[in-house]
Amino acid sequence: MTAGMKTGIVYHPDFLLHTNPHHPERKERLEAVMSLLARENLLTRLQQILPLTAALEEVTQVHTPQHLEYVRKMVERGNSYLDADTYLTKHSFDVALLSAGGALAAMRAVLGGELRSCFSLGRPPGHHAEPDNAMGFCLFNNGAIAAHAAMKEYGVSKILFLDWDVHHGNGTQKCFYHCPEVLFVSIHQSPAYPGTGHHHERGAGQGLGYNVNIPLPPGCGDEEYDAAFREVIVPLAEAYRPEVVLVSSGHDTYHADPLAGMSLSFKGFAAMARYVREIAETYCGGRIVLFLEGGYHLQGQAEAVVTILAELGKWERPVREEEVYRSGPVFGNPHKVIAAVREHLLLHKLK
Ligand SMILES: [Zn+2]
Repeated sequence: MTAGMKTGIVYHPDFLLHTNPHHPERKERLEAVMSLLARENLLTRLQQILPLTAALEEVTQVHTPQHLEYVRKMVERGNSYLDADTYLTKHSFDVALLSAGGALAAMRAVLGGELRSCFSLGRPPGHHAEPDNAMGFCLFNNGAIAAHAAMKEYGVSKILFLDWDVHHGNGTQKCFYHCPEVLFVSIHQSPAYPGTGHHHERGAGQGLGYNVNIPLPPGCGDEEYDAAFREVIVPLAEAYRPEVVLVSSGHDTYHADPLAGMSLSFKGFAAMARYVREIAETYCGGRIVLFLEGGYHLQGQAEAVVTILAELGKWERPVREEEVYRSGPVFGNPHKVIAAVREHLLLHKLK
């Protein structure tokens, strides 16, 4: 396999140090992924990258220095929670910087031509973290930090940033709301945490039209996600012609996830990864960088990550059949939502 064709992961054992046994966002989520990769002998197919800790200057491209200082101080004082959802340990500041460093390492491996696609398995996750606020289990916005560095270090000016975590990527939306260099597309459950992500939130100023929310009702599964890709995300990519595709990859859309109410099967994850791979192959030489977000059903999380990697790497690994899978019912009209989103797309502006 030639350089630049391979798929990789970013992993560091210290990603496990930020954990809380009483919290759904705990180290077992990542251990499950790594042990499935090991059990199926798949690590040999992946290039593994060990990240460096992000520099404070890299983090403050996205976050305020006050936010950084606040998190550091709270950890130093031994506080165990930043808000009702977001816990801290004595390692959390350092591990959060390492998680941001993981996103940066994945992005540099892909934009530097070493890998075709790369999945950063950094924890804590990032997509809820806003420039001046930690929330939703997230301290720093790993993906946003990487996107910023892609623009600054590699001169990339058209980033398609897709967020398929079941929750709205409010933090990433806020980071790039005025920015036409990042087309942010979030597909999420609504109503659900954190309550933002209405399809009327379309960006502002120069960034108007470059923020697209697809808020689907609870109960949606493979078919509804397929429709959203076919009718919104693929046409958007065609109009925008991205230079790289970034994905906030949460797997809490899995039908058995304990924190949310969507109905994806592993076939659904494979289909989404295939859409993204085809978009990236068509417009940007296959360049895809993924960041680990949510996913709280341990086997579901592990199998979803491996399914996505297999699809990106074109491995001959059959998609795992569900033992028990019930799709639906859907508590609303997803097709009406998709039609409303389409009506507001400023496709002409993206050309
Ligand atoms: Zn989530």
